[in-house]
Amino acid sequence: MATQSADFQTLSRRYTADKGFRAFIQKGMSGYYLKRDQNKANFQDWQGARDLAAEIKYEAVNHLDKYLLEFEQKITARGAKVFWAPNAEAAREYILKVAKENGVRSIIKSKTMTSEEIHLNDALEKEGFGVFESDLGEYIVQLRKEAPFHLVFPAMHLTRRQISDLFQKELGSEPTDEPEKLTMIARDVMRRKYCEADMGISGTNFAVAETGMISITENEGNARLTTSLPRIHVALLGIEKVLPKLEDLSLFLPMLATAGAGQTMTCYNTMYSGPRQPGEPDGPEQMHIVLLDNRRTELLADAEQRDSLGCIRCGACLNVCPIFKNVGGYSYGTTYGGPIGSVITPHLRGLKDWKHLSAASSLCGACTEACPVKIDLHHHLLQNRRNGAKASPAVGEKVAFGGFSLMMGHPALYRLAVVFGRVFQPLQGLVNGTILDPLRAWTGSRKFPTLAPQSFHEQWKKQRKGKP
Ligand code: SF4
Repeated sequence: MATQSADFQTLSRRYTADKGFRAFIQKGMSGYYLKRDQNKANFQDWQGARDLAAEIKYEAVNHLDKYLLEFEQKITARGAKVFWAPNAEAAREYILKVAKENGVRSIIKSKTMTSEEIHLNDALEKEGFGVFESDLGEYIVQLRKEAPFHLVFPAMHLTRRQISDLFQKELGSEPTDEPEKLTMIARDVMRRKYCEADMGISGTNFAVAETGMISITENEGNARLTTSLPRIHVALLGIEKVLPKLEDLSLFLPMLATAGAGQTMTCYNTMYSGPRQPGEPDGPEQMHIVLLDNRRTELLADAEQRDSLGCIRCGACLNVCPIFKNVGGYSYGTTYGGPIGSVITPHLRGLKDWKHLSAASSLCGACTEACPVKIDLHHHLLQNRRNGAKASPAVGEKVAFGGFSLMMGHPALYRLAVVFGRVFQPLQGLVNGTILDPLRAWTGSRKFPTLAPQSFHEQWKKQRKGKP
């Protein structure tokens, strides 16, 4: 069994068995559902907005070549440097090169899942650069030496008490469970880091081809400081982040806020179109845009699942997913958890090692329904399962489904199997879920269904007896 799959099973069992953890996550989510639904009602037509958003993303993803070149041309005309990174290594090397060539010592970062994807912090720290997360949630998980738990809420798995204990231990602060005080403790540390940093690294929510701008949306204002105080700004983005027109943001910004955090709009929405221009009093001296492919073009080449590149990383599919809410973000073992992570990770990191994630779904379709850009998530999970079974079929499954298919195609065999099933069912009951049970992978956490004393066919025959 692949390590990733075994790790997923171990961790997901552990989290699922922890009732306190599950109740905590459920409670955190209940406030989100309420606010999300209130804000959805502010849209004249939420379903129409989803259709439109899906259309815009379809256009952008299907013409990435055109829109990315337009974006590059516009933003370089205002002095930004664009680097096309084919993979994670190239992106890391470029950012390291910029840091070294400019004598950078300290780096501040705002929230970016793409940097998690390429393990940027590790690479920078290995080369001796101090890297500080400026997003509060990211800062908390960085202090704990953990990865983000959720695409949008990196520290949602922690209680205020745990955060207070962490701050006491790491920052020597007084104990408190007041959110404002906890925020002020982190802010105090962070303000000094902003002033010391030579380089600010940010993610990007959207890149607008028409105007050559990037758009960053946030609630704390930390991204604004990260991108404007240090003398160098590096923006990292996956190539799928591009939108054709500026006016598209009038739909995507409220949609991201509503689906992602149940807000009307996030508190800060900023557009950046290059470094400081002549005559401007502030802003970075250099701006670098790193356009990351990292196997996204392989996903683009897959006509069946290409639409998953339309993801705006709002996290809504995670918030409604019954699996995510039980197993949590860390069980997935990859940057992008939940339904969208299960869909794209096999493309980004290899089907063989990551196909198990697509099996971790009830296929209830809640994710597809929640997705603001209408990505057909639960069907993509099924397609991954099919692709996984085709690429490396499990012998046991092959035998089981081959036998099932044979039986269903031959009624006499089916009837014989039912008779055998009834005879051997009591034996199965004795070993159910134990090491002697050949079906224990399934029966370990479920009751084997009891076979009906009479099949439908037998009942039908009995009732029809004597009738014309
Ligand atoms: S797949 Fe849809 S719901 Fe999930 S994070 Fe992406 S945009 Fe949001």
